[in-house]
Amino acid sequence: MADTDAVTLVEIAPEVYLMRYPVLDVNATLIVGGEVAVVVDTLSTDDQARDLLAGVRALTALPLVIVNTHHHFDHCFGNSVLAAASPGCAIWAHEAAAAALREEGVRLQREWYVEWLTTHPELAEGLAAARVVPPNRTVHTESTMDIGGRVLELRHFGRGHTDGDLVVAVPDAGVLLAGDLVEQGGPPSFVDGYPLHWPETVAAVLHLITPRTTVVPGHGSVVDVDYVRAQHDELTQLAWQIRDGHYDRAVPEAVAARAPFGLAAALIAVKRGYAELDGRT
Ligand SMILES: [Zn+2]
Repeated sequence: MADTDAVTLVEIAPEVYLMRYPVLDVNATLIVGGEVAVVVDTLSTDDQARDLLAGVRALTALPLVIVNTHHHFDHCFGNSVLAAASPGCAIWAHEAAAAALREEGVRLQREWYVEWLTTHPELAEGLAAARVVPPNRTVHTESTMDIGGRVLELRHFGRGHTDGDLVVAVPDAGVLLAGDLVEQGGPPSFVDGYPLHWPETVAAVLHLITPRTTVVPGHGSVVDVDYVRAQHDELTQLAWQIRDGHYDRAVPEAVAARAPFGLAAALIAVKRGYAELDGRT
């Protein structure tokens, strides 16, 4: 990016900094501990990751640890640049996200390149040029990370936006990083999602959130408990509409037309939900 467009890390809680990157409006977060600094999500391309790294290094010289909230390129294709800046860097993710990147990363990279080439050519070229670096530490359901004077919780609550979503809680700061399980500024993405399971996963996430918690969604501006509750209600409504529509043998388009989140997003959700109810997933 040009210097005039420089993106900065903004402190949203004590020693917790957020970079809201304009391309895809994606969030990356820095949590500074006493011994290491943790970067949660690493953006889409080498150039974007270099912007993030410059912001990180302006704030801390500590060794880095990376966490990926899930396997989608906009949350982990900057791993290579961030990891190279901190020898021996641990990269954490849920085991399903790590497996997807390790076993399918190169195929997915080609798919995503084709998918984004028409609408976002610069992004597509950048993500295609990135070196996919899979996570080297995995979480099954829960891990705690002592980063020196503060403890982070990495939690997996089941299927939702993907089969490998991780949320990161910073209890001492009252911050929760929700990844794409919570979306602001656009509808949730169901392309790799599980619309019938997503509501209960977000319900579990809600147990970590108090009225004072700052919730960082995967994309868009920070939100609060009321926003997450409202999104949970919409996800619940959608899941029931999918079950009812499937029972009534309604065509997906008819169900999606009266569902939350808009026709395009809901149609993907309905088709995914039907496939699961038909035993096709
Ligand atoms: Zn995603």
